[in-house]
Amino acid sequence: MRSAVLARLLDLGETPAREAMGLMEALGGEMRSLILASSAQDAVAAVGDVHLGVHPALEDPDPEIAYLAAVRLIGDVPPDLLLLPEGPLFEMIGARLAGHFGMSAVRDVDEVTAESGAIILRKGAYGGKANVRLRASGGVVAGLRAGAFPAADPQPQTASIEDLGPLAEGGKERRTVRDTSGDDLGRAKVIVSGGRGLGSREGYESLRPFAALLGASLGASRAAVDEGWASPSQQVGITGRKVAPELYLAIGISGASQHLSGMSGSRTVIAVNRDEHAPIFEAADIGLVADWYQIWPHLQKALEG
Ligand SMILES: Cc1cc2nc3c(=O)[nH]c(=O)nc-3n(C[C@H](O)[C@H](O)[C@H](O)COP(=O)(O)OP(=O)(O)OC[C@H]3O[C@@H](n4cnc5c(N)ncnc54)[C@H](O)[C@@H]3O)c2cc1C
Repeated sequence: MRSAVLARLLDLGETPAREAMGLMEALGGEMRSLILASSAQDAVAAVGDVHLGVHPALEDPDPEIAYLAAVRLIGDVPPDLLLLPEGPLFEMIGARLAGHFGMSAVRDVDEVTAESGAIILRKGAYGGKANVRLRASGGVVAGLRAGAFPAADPQPQTASIEDLGPLAEGGKERRTVRDTSGDDLGRAKVIVSGGRGLGSREGYESLRPFAALLGASLGASRAAVDEGWASPSQQVGITGRKVAPELYLAIGISGASQHLSGMSGSRTVIAVNRDEHAPIFEAADIGLVADWYQIWPHLQKALEG
């Protein structure tokens, strides 16, 4: 089987990218690491045959640039399996790449096996209540669920470097404004998420200093996003991000199944809710039946002191 990992140079030190490489190594066969980079670098920590595509706009690319660069880097013959760590890159270009190369796109994959030459992917369904196994009938672009695979320890390798040259067609320049506020959720070790129970935008904002004290990233329930307190890229859940931090704190979140399915990979869950019957407590390792506004001043004092 021919497999490739597509990643950004800036993400190579991160666990999701190393997990994608770990899976590629475990599957064996012909392996390529396709790395999008803003400047040439002849030794990158990767596995397999390393191919670095260089364009100055790849420092923090907009989706159009990332897509055109990836198409160029993959070349005319795509691999059977193209692995992308779940996160910004997959969200930006995963489905579009699949469309371009006539492949399938599957996200939130937590197991990949090869059986008699066919690729079998497993992913969650029905809000994480069931797993489905999909047998690919052609090439697949797979977004890998963070935390589901053992991370490889990629070694510095000499990379073949390709200058991607002008990417915009017809010399036209397009600019896309991208919401980056939830970008780090996929790799965060600690996440503080807020829900409708916080009552207002100011209430949600009270999580910001709390998260800063813990070195955490800020997530949200869909209700908090719908209220306009948080951005859609911060939403955790079945229609938002799937996260797998070491610690997930759910504040004023009831624990609807659609939210739980996005946070089920968390190692430890702490919930704060004033309703002792809230379903979030069933998913929590530690539950505090409390009003957030009663406990936050004490927490702040303790953490700052
Ligand atoms: C197709 C579909 C997809 C969906 N996808 C998602 C998704 O991806 N992510 C997601 O989150 N939801 C999703 N939802 C919505 C989901 O069903 C819930 O409506 C949503 O998660 C509820 O958000 P919440 O827990 O913040 O709000 P609520 O359900 O209103 O809960 C608020 C909680 O805060 C508690 N509370 C109130 N005041 C305080 C206080 N002062 N201190 C502490 N606790 C307090 C309350 O007791 C309550 O439990 C989806 C729904 C559908 C139908």
